[in-house]
Amino acid sequence: MLEKRHIPGGKLSSWRDRDGDWLESGLHSFFGGYANVHALLADVGISHHVLWQPHTLTWGFPPGFSPRWGGTDPVFEEFHFVDLPAPFNGVGAVLNGKYVFNTLEKLLFAKGTLPVLLGDHAYAERQDDLTYVQWHRKRGMSEHMLRTFFAPMSLALNFTPIDKISAEAMLRVMAYFASSKNASRAGFLNGPPSESFVKPLVDHVRSRGQDVEMSAGAGELIFEDDRVAGVRTLDGREYRAAATILAVPVHDAAKLLPAEMLRDPLVHGVGKLTSSPIINAHLWFDIKISKLSNLIFAPGTILPVHADLGQASSGYEWPDRSFVEVCVAPADDLMRLDDEAVIDRVMRDMQRLYPTATREHLVKAKLVRIPKSVYRASPGAERLRPGARTPTRNLFLAGCYTNHRFPASIEGAVRSAKAAVERAVEQIGVRT
Ligand SMILES: Cc1cc2nc3c(=O)[nH]c(=O)nc-3n(C[C@H](O)[C@H](O)[C@H](O)COP(=O)(O)OP(=O)(O)OC[C@H]3O[C@@H](n4cnc5c(N)ncnc54)[C@H](O)[C@@H]3O)c2cc1C
Repeated sequence: MLEKRHIPGGKLSSWRDRDGDWLESGLHSFFGGYANVHALLADVGISHHVLWQPHTLTWGFPPGFSPRWGGTDPVFEEFHFVDLPAPFNGVGAVLNGKYVFNTLEKLLFAKGTLPVLLGDHAYAERQDDLTYVQWHRKRGMSEHMLRTFFAPMSLALNFTPIDKISAEAMLRVMAYFASSKNASRAGFLNGPPSESFVKPLVDHVRSRGQDVEMSAGAGELIFEDDRVAGVRTLDGREYRAAATILAVPVHDAAKLLPAEMLRDPLVHGVGKLTSSPIINAHLWFDIKISKLSNLIFAPGTILPVHADLGQASSGYEWPDRSFVEVCVAPADDLMRLDDEAVIDRVMRDMQRLYPTATREHLVKAKLVRIPKSVYRASPGAERLRPGARTPTRNLFLAGCYTNHRFPASIEGAVRSAKAAVERAVEQIGVRT
C-alpha cells in the first residue's frame, strides 16, 4: 500500500500539534449500521474502541431560531429512539419530539418519507435529478421541518446545503437510518483515530506480511500493452503489481487516470465529480460548556454537526472540560477567510448555543481545512459515481466516492475497498 502523505489515515488521520494536542481531519462518528466497518473492527480485534452513545439524536437551536418558541435561550431537542424494531423506533422518536414538528408535521413527515421508510431503494434512486428542497416541497412537507430538521442533516452528511444536495443522497441516508434498529446510533472512537483506528489497521496489514509505505505518492500508472504493470511514485520509484487498486479521492484519481480513459462510460464520472470543502474546528475550553456529549446537529449556525469529545472520549486527554470538534459548513465562502476570522464566526455561533463558551474560557482554537473533501452529492452526481471496474482489466477504483450505494463515509470507503478486491479476484484471480 502506497500513501502520499507521511501519516496514514486520509480523511481519518490525526496528529499532534506543537503543543502535543490532537488535531484531526474531521469529527468522525461510527454509526451502528456500519456493518462492514464493524466486521473489520472485529477482525482486527478493536470493536471495543468504539464508545457507544445513547441512542439519541440531538438538535440544538440558537435563540430566536424559530418563531414557534420564544425566549432568549437556546433550545435543545433530543430525539430518543424508542425500544421498537426499525423504522418504528425512529418514528417513535419523532412522535415524542416537542419543537421541530407539530402534530400535523409529524403526519406529513410519515406520509412524505413513507417510500423511504419502507425501504424502496429504486424510488430513492429516481430522485437524483432533484435537490432535497425540491423533493421535500413536492412531498408536501413544511418549510419549518426543512430549516430545522433537514438543513443540518444535509450539511453533516455532505457539507452541502439543502438546496444544493441531491434528494437521492438524503433519501439514502434516511433509508439507511430506518434500515435496522441501531443504524442511527452514534459511537465515537476511544481516542484520536490515528491511535484507535488507523494504527491498529496498519499493524494488522503489516502482520500479514504486506508493506504499507508512507510518503510514497503515486505519480503515474505504468501502462504496458493493455494492462497496468504498477505505479511510478512522484519521486520516481517503481512498484510492480498483478493488479492495482486506486484508492484515492476522486480529484486525485482524475489526475492519475489517462485523459483518454476518462471518456469511457465506466469511469467518465471521475473527471466530472466535484468535491465539498470543509473546515474541522478544534476548540479547547477550560470548563464544561454543556452536559451534552453526543452528536449535535445545529441549524442556523455554521456548526451543523459537532460533539464534545473531551467529555465523550477519554483518549483526547481533556478530562472534565470541553474539547469540541466542529464540522464548519458550508465552508465554500469561509475558505477565503483567514483562521482568526473563521474562529470568530465559529465562536459567535458557539456562544449562541452554549452561553458559557466565551472567549475567556477558550484555551485554544485550531482549524484543519480540506478544500476538496468528499465528493459533492449534487443532483445528478449519483449517476457519475463509478464502480470498481475500469476499462483496463487489472486496474480498479476504490474510495468513498465510488458507487457502493452508500453516502461518502467510513462505511462507504470499506464497502468500496471490498468491492475492488472482489472484482480483482474475479477478473485476474489475484489471491488475497
Ligand atoms: C470533516 C469530515 C468529517 C467526516 N465525518 C464522518 C463521519 O462522522 N462518519 C463517516 O462515516 N464519515 C465521515 N467523513 C467521511 C469519511 O472520512 C470519508 O468518507 C472516508 O474517510 C474516505 O475514505 P477514502 O479511503 O475514500 O479516502 P481518504 O480517506 O481521503 O483516503 C485516500 C488516501 O489517498 C491518499 N492519496 C491521494 N493521492 C495519492 C497518490 N497519488 N498516491 C498515494 N496516495 C494518495 C491520500 O493521502 C489519502 O490518505 C468525514 C469526512 C470529513 C472530511
